Amino acid sequence: MSRYWSEFVHRLQPYVPGEQPKMANLTKLNTNENPYGPSPKVLQAIQQAVSDTLRLYPDPTSLKLKESIADYYQLSPEYVFVGNGSDEVLGHVFHALFQHDAPLLFPDISYSFYPVYCQLYQINFETVALNAQFQINIDDYLKPNGGIIFPNPNAPTGSLLALAEIERLLQNNTDSVVVVDEAYIDFGGISAISLVKQYPNLLVTQTFSKSRSLAGLRLGLAIGQPELIEALVRVKDSFNSYPVDALASAAGIAAMKDKAYFTETCNKVIDSRTKMITALEELGFEVLPSAANFVFTRHPDYDAAELAQGLRKQGIVVRHFKKPRIDQFLRITIGTDAENQLMLSVMDTLV
Ligand SMILES: *Cc1c(COP(=O)(O)O)cnc(C)c1O
Repeated sequence: MSRYWSEFVHRLQPYVPGEQPKMANLTKLNTNENPYGPSPKVLQAIQQAVSDTLRLYPDPTSLKLKESIADYYQLSPEYVFVGNGSDEVLGHVFHALFQHDAPLLFPDISYSFYPVYCQLYQINFETVALNAQFQINIDDYLKPNGGIIFPNPNAPTGSLLALAEIERLLQNNTDSVVVVDEAYIDFGGISAISLVKQYPNLLVTQTFSKSRSLAGLRLGLAIGQPELIEALVRVKDSFNSYPVDALASAAGIAAMKDKAYFTETCNKVIDSRTKMITALEELGFEVLPSAANFVFTRHPDYDAAELAQGLRKQGIVVRHFKKPRIDQFLRITIGTDAENQLMLSVMDTLV
């Protein structure tokens, strides 16, 4: 607390990201990073961009990066917005599209940054309970609202909502913006980007942090019709004209081009997920169906916080949320098979 602060800063409760431990040699299965490094072509592109030209500002419109994303999705660049991580993109989305009288709707169990943006931008919101299977039911969202947002697959549950259900929502909710946060879509889901041309109120966000192994670089994107993109550009240009630096831009372009590496590493994560689910079930865990690079799991006989602590003592970090409905679950990131095996062998000693 300080008398120098703006009044509302006293009341802000910031988002708390998963721990980035300072200790070396930990097995880090807590923040859904990709266990495989970025494509070698991405590293090469960054090295090539390290030059005297760094004295210049980057392109404020990030046109080449937007073109590479547009090419990948067979759209034109006017449908694309990019930012410094999808968290920043989401911040602009909340600011530009969700400040209305009617409440923004999002699931009760979801990305915990959403209520934080609502507080920052003073957005009225209402949470909608996931059903007993921890899934989103579209019918629960068919009521007056100032916008709708949910991750697909959802976080931290990993559950995937079928594209047909998203389309049913769009057909029945035409007066407010629907944002699908596809941070994990590349691990087994079908992107709603294919619906963007047909539905002017659909915006899809994605990140380079998970499926493209670039969490350290900070790159995120949004795809929607130019009318929605313009709102984001207005907010961005009132905040920071150059959110994407020259190195990030070079890396992002190379990442979008290297489809082979992307497909190979995503498939490896998906295979490891299947193995991890089987192994956890053999230990007596209940595992929610996952289309993400993590699983959400609970053991009927053991306390989740104690299990997390037991793993931590052996150098393995997973995520536990002290929140209603999910405090008996652990969210475990899919690592390499060797990391997963290590986690499972320690878990075997705890249950
Ligand atoms: C990881 C994540 C993001 C943020 O990704 P960054 O691009 O690293 O900021 C956004 N939404 C969800 C649901 C996530 O899990």
